[in-house]
Amino acid sequence: MRIAIFSNNGKSSNVVATKLKQGILKARNLQLDGLNPELVISIGGDGTLLSAFHHYNDSIDEIRFIGIHTGHLGFYTDWRDNEVDHLVHSLQRDNGQSVSYPLLSLKINYSDGGGSDKLLALNESVLKRVSSTMVTDIYINHQFIEKFRGDGLCTSTPTGSTAYNKSIGGAILDPSLNAIQVSEMASINNRVFRTLGSPMIISPEQTVTIIPKDHYHNVLTCDQMMVHDRPIRSIEYQISNHRIYFARYRHIHFWERVSNSFIGLDNN
Ligand code: NAP
Ligand code: MN
Repeated sequence: MRIAIFSNNGKSSNVVATKLKQGILKARNLQLDGLNPELVISIGGDGTLLSAFHHYNDSIDEIRFIGIHTGHLGFYTDWRDNEVDHLVHSLQRDNGQSVSYPLLSLKINYSDGGGSDKLLALNESVLKRVSSTMVTDIYINHQFIEKFRGDGLCTSTPTGSTAYNKSIGGAILDPSLNAIQVSEMASINNRVFRTLGSPMIISPEQTVTIIPKDHYHNVLTCDQMMVHDRPIRSIEYQISNHRIYFARYRHIHFWERVSNSFIGLDNN
């Protein structure tokens, strides 16, 4: 099995990476291959796993991921830094077992000479404005829903629902649901301006289209990255046909992961 190691180069991550490389080189059926891997092992935190996901974006259907935790929270990272031997043992006995989660597809239509880009997000995409109010029309499948006024809109995947989406009052979505969620950031609600106010959970058949009134002064993100500085005419969000695959050598229930990450083991 061809394995890539994707580390954040922190001190403790480098120690883990060295140990893991030694283990892989010793095993007869494993080899290191950063260019064309079947399995990508990220070492760090969730940010590292997000970077690994975007690094291998073009071959996302052929790759399975594993996260080793040396970072802060590590929502996506199942393995601890002291479990390298156990992990190498599991890699040698790999039989292709995996679990997959939904991804978000973004189509960005530009207004400077047209053209569009398609991107994939593992956590979310946010359109926001820093100075003055962001005004956008929201459509679901060409049905006008509302004129949003506020700081921004966050559209997230189920596994991303515990990230930015959670901080702005979105719901935590079970990733066995093939759905995306649109959550408001500081919407203006008064006698004059009105938004739904609730997060919206959207089925795979639906496309959410966001049309900013001002094409220029917005910031668009795709996970930890900012999308280029071009004027945006509209963004179309949908569940992607692609999914992210994780090698599943041991099962951690999603809600157990949520409880461990946000409540903690000692809090009972
Ligand atoms: P970061 O500042 O380290 O991320 C913020 C926190 O979110 C970190 O504790 C990170 O874990 C955690 N996190 C990332 N993905 C998560 C997930 N799916 N579920 C639960 N927690 C998650 O920056 P980063 O590591 O580059 O991550 C980028 C992400 O940060 C973005 O995709 C966005 O979701 C999030 N973010 C959140 C806010 C907010 O809550 N106000 C603002 C901006 C961005 P690690 O410590 O393990 O990295
Ligand atoms: Mn981080």
